[in-house]
Amino acid sequence: MKISEIFKNSDKAVLSFEIFPPKKTSGIETVYSTIDELADLKPAYISVTYGAGGNIANTSTRDIAAHIRNDCGIEAMAHITCVNNTKEEVLTVLDGFREHGIGNILALRGDISPDKPPKTDFRHASELITFIREHREYDGIGISGACYPEGHTQAESLTADILNLRKKVDAGAEELITQLFFENRFFYDFREKAAIAGINVPISAGIMPVTSKSQIERMVTMCGASLPQKFVRMVTKYEYRPEALIDAGIAYAADQITDLLANGVDGIHIYTMNNPYVARKLVGIIEKLL
Ligand code: FAD
Repeated sequence: MKISEIFKNSDKAVLSFEIFPPKKTSGIETVYSTIDELADLKPAYISVTYGAGGNIANTSTRDIAAHIRNDCGIEAMAHITCVNNTKEEVLTVLDGFREHGIGNILALRGDISPDKPPKTDFRHASELITFIREHREYDGIGISGACYPEGHTQAESLTADILNLRKKVDAGAEELITQLFFENRFFYDFREKAAIAGINVPISAGIMPVTSKSQIERMVTMCGASLPQKFVRMVTKYEYRPEALIDAGIAYAADQITDLLANGVDGIHIYTMNNPYVARKLVGIIEKLL
């Protein structure tokens, strides 16, 4: 089923998870037990990230998404980036998704690496979406896009970013998933500005329960999310007590989600970091609130 249909048919906030393929050093099977545990929690769909380098020989995103959909019976969304791929390569990846029954994608530009100049066929995610929508053989595919409550790190301003986001939606993105954020007021402000800009597709809030200090430092360097004082105090207090930090991270995320649900969020997308323990505990707290 298309993700847009899931939103249309749901009278409550749509719960989804995100996972990533295992690192090169471990086999793809290592993620299957994680998926089985996540599938037990009955999310509406699970999305699978795509390697930033755009290496089309690596089919792990496709294979994992196919396992989620075809073996676990949970709808799957495969991420795809375009900045390091040609149009032909993108079609090869999309053909692979279609042949494996994957009918939903998250269409992304991908990060531009200083060590690898981007290819020239696509400059923005909106161009990728337009390209896919021009191909009749992908008529039925569901396309989602990424968005940034605090603005994308390369955008001139939040307003400029939202105007660019409108192009992505006009091109055919049917719903949006936000980058992680730790302060809900950024989300509410963004949602209001997006509505004023005429963006009226569902927006899922991307929530990452923190599990370690190094994880959060890495994420923040990559995406530029702000860390509120309340959050920094929590990480500082528990940084040398890993188990306590995990529980505190779950409590913080549950608090954020409770507030988002009370404020009518369309969906909650949990960045599970392939950690079923964390996902299970978090879902246990919020499932009756959805
Ligand atoms: P775009 O929408 O193209 O935006 C990128 C920048 O260009 C923004 O500053 C925007 O304002 C600007 N822009 C957009 N359109 C135009 C235009 N027409 N004219 C001028 N400027 C424009 N990365 C991965 O490598 N793999 C993944 O699986 C992955 N999954 C992600 C999932 C989510 C939910 C999110 C939020 C991000 C994910 N990313 C992933 C990271 C993403 O690839 C980066 O954030 C990337 O830098 C931007 O991708 P985008 O699709 O948002 O790009």
